[in-house]
Amino acid sequence: MQPIDEIRVRLDGDMQKLESLVAAPGAVAGAPANEGEGAKALSRQFEELKVRYLGKKGDISGLLRVMGTLAPEARPEYGKLVNELRDIAEARFAALQAKIQEAEIADSVSGSTLDATLPGYRVPLGSLHPMTQVREEIISFFQGLGFELALAPEVDNDWYNFEALNIPPDHPSRDMHDTFYVDDKVVLRTHTSNVQVHYMETHQDQPIRIIAPGFVYRVDNDATHSPMFQQVECLVVDKDISFANLKGTLFLWARHMFGTETTMRFRPSYFPFTEPSAEMDVSCYFCKGQGCRTCKQTGWIEIGGCGSVDPNVFGKVGWDPEKYTGFAFGFGIDRITMLKYGIPDISHLTRNDNRFLRQF
Ligand SMILES: [Zn+2]
Repeated sequence: MQPIDEIRVRLDGDMQKLESLVAAPGAVAGAPANEGEGAKALSRQFEELKVRYLGKKGDISGLLRVMGTLAPEARPEYGKLVNELRDIAEARFAALQAKIQEAEIADSVSGSTLDATLPGYRVPLGSLHPMTQVREEIISFFQGLGFELALAPEVDNDWYNFEALNIPPDHPSRDMHDTFYVDDKVVLRTHTSNVQVHYMETHQDQPIRIIAPGFVYRVDNDATHSPMFQQVECLVVDKDISFANLKGTLFLWARHMFGTETTMRFRPSYFPFTEPSAEMDVSCYFCKGQGCRTCKQTGWIEIGGCGSVDPNVFGKVGWDPEKYTGFAFGFGIDRITMLKYGIPDISHLTRNDNRFLRQF
């Protein structure tokens, strides 16, 4: 075989070998274990091969160097063959170089230190605070009965928090010792009942069913009281609404919240904005009415206040008390949360202790 043919055959074999290495699946994947066969190693092999054939002292240049030893009439044909071989070799090396560069880019993108089989970082997931869960549950229950969600400002004026709710100027709850005053006429609302006034003022002469959750503020700070707490309140106004409707609604809710065994009782009470008024108790969730520490051996737990809307309140907001009647009730969400989950100490709810919160 002539040297030129021998080089052409060898070049073809070497190129095929390297081309198949580059094309092999995973050949250039940068995992540390097979770094030896990675893109860098292929690139090195490529350069060596290219120098061997196309370098100044390479095989193809060597073919040209022997031209002087040939007969003059054979030289043009020989030169043409060598140039053809060099063109073929250059084209093949260029194509292979492009493939290796692509592989190197893919290799650097995938990252040579990435191990897709390692476990990922676990992002800790939070959950809703138990009081938020209870508030959402209460809202959703009453929305299911057709109540509409209603809100009002937490900083409100005297009219909405006291005056329109039939709370007279000399009432003890207006005292500086009980209420946070922003100025003479503006307070941090002491209850969610200001929602009733706002809503009735803006929805005159039409049936009302609203549920109003929210934060309220009182000058109170001891083991069982916090200066800020959450209440939820309902108001129903329509023609012929009676105390029996109030009892029926509350009974449904109590059984939903505390179980179908739950019974209720009403004790006469006084609130300026309802008449008659009552405190509502549910049978103790823990001892089923037998008497325990939580219910102070009475079998009953007080959960909130309620009553029929006082006709004076209707008058204050421009409604006709002869035409409409209604009822309202409200309770503390913290208290309901403690009862529902059997939480013995109210301070657990605000201590932000993950060992406690993780249980919900
Ligand atoms: Zn009990």
